[in-house]
Amino acid sequence: MRLFLINICCLYFCFACQLKKAVEDKKAFVSEAIAQLEEIAADTIPLAKESVPKEVHDTDFVDLLDYTDQIAYDFRYADTNNFIHEKVYPCVQCLLRKEVALALVQANASLLPKGYRLRLFDCYRPLSVQHKMWAIYPDGRYVANPNTSGSIHNRGGAVDVTLELLNGSIVDMGTDFDHFGKEAHTSYTSFGQDIIQHRKLLQKAMLAAGFSPLKTEWWHFNFGKSKKYSISNVPFDCAK
Ligand SMILES: [Zn+2]
Repeated sequence: MRLFLINICCLYFCFACQLKKAVEDKKAFVSEAIAQLEEIAADTIPLAKESVPKEVHDTDFVDLLDYTDQIAYDFRYADTNNFIHEKVYPCVQCLLRKEVALALVQANASLLPKGYRLRLFDCYRPLSVQHKMWAIYPDGRYVANPNTSGSIHNRGGAVDVTLELLNGSIVDMGTDFDHFGKEAHTSYTSFGQDIIQHRKLLQKAMLAAGFSPLKTEWWHFNFGKSKKYSISNVPFDCAK
């Protein structure tokens, strides 16, 4: 009888050991399976995100560089070579409402076969920068008052632009950017024929794309009914 009890105890012990091992094996299997699933998920989730294109509405802000690299940049406010002699933009980036950016691409495309392309002085200007400019130069003749109507640039609906040759050479437009005088007016014609033709060429390309000129600044163009866009303070994305 005693021997029988010892055998029963041994059998029970062995069975318990095997059961414990089976449970541990199963736990290890489940952990490994979970780790593999997490690894697969980590690989696939970003791909799934990237494969879904972000819907961009006509009035959303976009970076012009995402639509064309055929337009040149000469952003004076990202340097000190401007009428306030201060760098007020942290970097060079042309943000515009999407439909304005597309119109600019169209205007530029019409100039390329003629041997010219657009060179940008300014696009969207955050309201905080408008305040900064106003603090430095509070003269409503040259800087739009941010406390009243602000500027169409603050709405992402205006560009300051000139022409350059495809080799990057400057085209003579009669005055420099931000020349505040009658020579910058679109009605001023006391120039040589080449300058008049350059201004006409720029204006024609911009008008055909849906922009309208400003009488007092040959370089400034508003797109369509630009006041439909709200004044914005979206910052530049300099890390892009
Ligand atoms: Zn302007």
